[in-house]
Amino acid sequence: MDDAEYALRMEIIATCRSMDRQDINQGTSGNISVRWRDGLLITPSGLVYDTMAADDIVFLAMDGTPTGPHKPSSEWRFHRDILAERQDLGAVVHAHPPYCTAIAITGEDIPAVHYMIAAAGGSTVRCAPYATFGTDELSNNALQALQGRLCCLLANHGSIACGTTLGKAFWLADELETLARQYYLSRQFGKPVVLSDDEIERVIEKFKSYGPRLKAQT
Ligand code: 13P
Ligand code: ZN
Repeated sequence: MDDAEYALRMEIIATCRSMDRQDINQGTSGNISVRWRDGLLITPSGLVYDTMAADDIVFLAMDGTPTGPHKPSSEWRFHRDILAERQDLGAVVHAHPPYCTAIAITGEDIPAVHYMIAAAGGSTVRCAPYATFGTDELSNNALQALQGRLCCLLANHGSIACGTTLGKAFWLADELETLARQYYLSRQFGKPVVLSDDEIERVIEKFKSYGPRLKAQT
């Protein structure tokens, strides 16, 4: 393994531990993949994150053939299928965050209750219909819910967040859980006001130029 691959494997492990620290995940649930060469690097199935080492991460060819000492995540199908179908994406973070999962248990989409939903790529975060974990059916449902989006809920299960890089995918997984928590809380004492599709389009446009100006651009 060269230095670049080692660094990426260690970034995956560090991100798994961040998921635990930020209460996005519990125990060994959840999994992460990053596009690598002609396949992907993916977390092994059911292995504790605390003691995970670079060699424990599995390389998966696009035909589903694993290389490494462990089985790949049981969710390798949707990780592989998302990275195969969505050439705009480079990383996938799956977790069982409490508020996302609470909403996913109702099977409902998250509507545009906060402008930050624009980070998801549109005016809803869809909830993919339930299917057994690790199945082709779950993968197909997730791919459909992700159309035109960077994240989705999985009914009675959890969430998926994607990005061009692992850093962006993890950031979105955390933002999505924040949005879910805000939505959940607002529904405890009132009827949430939903922003219009036009407004979310405006925010998506503004996001394109949002953030600190880099020195080279000034
Ligand atoms: P793995 O430990 O196999 O990655 O599975 C955890 C999970 O979240 C299944 O949906
Ligand atoms: Zn899961």
